[in-house]
Amino acid sequence: MNLIESAENRALRAAVAQLAGRYGREYFATAVREGRHADELWAEAGKLGYLGVNLPEEYGGGGGGIAELALVLEELGAAGCPLLLMVVSPAICGTVIARFGTDEQKRAWLPGLAAGTARMAFGITEPDAGSNSHRLTTTARRDGSDWVLSGRKVFISGVDVADATLIVGRTEDARTGRLKPCLFIVGRDTPGFLRRPIEMELASPEKQFELVLDDVRLPAEALVGNEDAGLLQLFAGLNPERVMTAAFAIGMGRYAVARAVDYARTRQVWDEPIGAHQAVAHPLARSHIEIELARLMMYKAAHLYDAGDDAGAGEAANMAKYAAAEAAVRAVDQAVHTLGGNGLTVEFGLASMITAARVARVAPVSREMILNYVSHQTLGLPKSY
Ligand SMILES: Cc1cc2nc3c(=O)[nH]c(=O)nc-3n(C[C@H](O)[C@H](O)[C@H](O)COP(=O)(O)OP(=O)(O)OC[C@H]3O[C@@H](n4cnc5c(N)ncnc54)[C@H](O)[C@@H]3O)c2cc1C
Repeated sequence: MNLIESAENRALRAAVAQLAGRYGREYFATAVREGRHADELWAEAGKLGYLGVNLPEEYGGGGGGIAELALVLEELGAAGCPLLLMVVSPAICGTVIARFGTDEQKRAWLPGLAAGTARMAFGITEPDAGSNSHRLTTTARRDGSDWVLSGRKVFISGVDVADATLIVGRTEDARTGRLKPCLFIVGRDTPGFLRRPIEMELASPEKQFELVLDDVRLPAEALVGNEDAGLLQLFAGLNPERVMTAAFAIGMGRYAVARAVDYARTRQVWDEPIGAHQAVAHPLARSHIEIELARLMMYKAAHLYDAGDDAGAGEAANMAKYAAAEAAVRAVDQAVHTLGGNGLTVEFGLASMITAARVARVAPVSREMILNYVSHQTLGLPKSY
């Protein structure tokens, strides 16, 4: 055990890095070019138990926590092949079902999510609510023992490959203006559950969708956990999502810096390689430092969460997501610049990461909303909205 990471986790990191190294950026870029998903990598990672490291052992998971799942995603990203759906399927949906699902839901979903043979998307964002989840209007109405769901969602990742989507709705009687969310598992082929792909300027195998829920009728068992504890359940899933987005960004930042360092070490247009010039070297050193700092905050957030401190994890997870996204945006930008003209070629494949890095700045919660959170919750400053 070193101070930061146990021997087991370092061994897990090394094993995942080895798997990811066999696939690498070329595999990922080819999948994107051909409009395919990274199914082979997903399946192998699932078979090796990496996608379910955080899920309970009795349901086929590894019995670890978000700290372990985050390091898996970070290592895949550092090799250039991050699996975005890990942020959603095992981290949000797996966690929420493991903590709050009924025994039947756990039996039905957790073994598949742990093995990667089942996938679940997560839908909270709405066109007219955006960052303000208090304005969610997707409504769940009781009809006998059934629920009937209607509303719209936007930017929902991976709905095409997911067996189901965990939809955040609100109960119809919540007219006080206060969010009273509730979570429903909606199977991909449920009548009235309609999806339309959104064209994104993103080089990613995972696609985003606009969803229409047109009186989607669900059995009582589709409700996850308790109708009156939805907010608690929701936050139990959102903190892992922030930690995993930090891991996604940190992996991407590591990949970009490594490519730039390789290039700067050998590219020579004067007497020395370009990496000898401090104007090239220092920004890369700074990015390395920023990534390491973000990683420390990610560990803190993950360990607080895994220790059951949901409130402490909330602040740390927001800060980790913020720091990691900013570090990744800067690292990718600097990497592209380090390669000069080659930074913009398809062959080197870095420029397309500029948009991918910016996803971490806006989703699942934007940079400004985190600054708002820290201003209000941590510093006690008044609210502007
Ligand atoms: C690639 C991708 C994948 C995604 N996947 C999913 C998914 O799987 N599931 C899901 O539910 N959602 C998903 N999202 C949605 C994502 O979570 C939202 O885009 C994000 O929450 C921001 O909401 P918005 O886009 O509506 O922006 P808006 O809320 O409209 O914000 C626009 C801008 O205004 C700023 N702003 C808004 N309010 C304030 C304020 N009070 N103070 C200061 N600034 C403010 C924001 O910071 C932002 O810069 C995804 C998005 C992307 C890009």
